[in-house]
Amino acid sequence: MIIGITGTPGTGKTSACALIGGVLDLNKLIKDEGLHLGVERERGSLIADMDVVYDRICEIAEGRDGNLVIEGHLSHHVCDVAIVLRLSPDELVRRLEERGYSGAKISENVEAEAIDVILVEAVEWCGRDRVYEIDTTGKTVEEVAETIREVLDAVGRGIVVDGYEPGSVDWVSGYIF
Ligand code: ADP
Ligand code: MN
Repeated sequence: MIIGITGTPGTGKTSACALIGGVLDLNKLIKDEGLHLGVERERGSLIADMDVVYDRICEIAEGRDGNLVIEGHLSHHVCDVAIVLRLSPDELVRRLEERGYSGAKISENVEAEAIDVILVEAVEWCGRDRVYEIDTTGKTVEEVAETIREVLDAVGRGIVVDGYEPGSVDWVSGYIF
């Protein structure tokens, strides 16, 4: 089984997974192995060739005994179970500003986070009962890593874990009257 740790850029995937260990960095794989179609003109980012990425990830997973865990904002497109890291839009703005992202790139990512874009894509790809959301707001990197470990452990053992189902995180209902 392939487990993807996904989420809007800046939600803390790479930081938390560095503490977990043994997690494949999907963006790095795409870059290192040239699994892309070229460079996007406007943003200068690589356009991943998702069919090729999917085949490569399946190949890596087949060579494994246990589950393959991958991380990256594209990982929900190529996994069986998705763990979606969420971060309050306010906090995400601050993180992306610190990262030096342009205003346009910050808006694009924060809007996507606010309206659950990656969560919805993950549910479409994996199915509702194979998607978990983790609210990382106010959590340290170690606390996020620990929560991911808890979900990974439950998924690995086929145990149902409550409190992380799609819809458990909601950034907009407080603004609707
Ligand atoms: P992603 O891989 O999801 O894009 P990163 O792990 O690269 O996110 O983290 C983005 C930025 O946020 C980095 O500057 C990182 O140091 C910081 N960061 C990550 N997780 C946390 C956290 N739990 N608390 C505070 N800052 C964090
Ligand atoms: Mn990352």
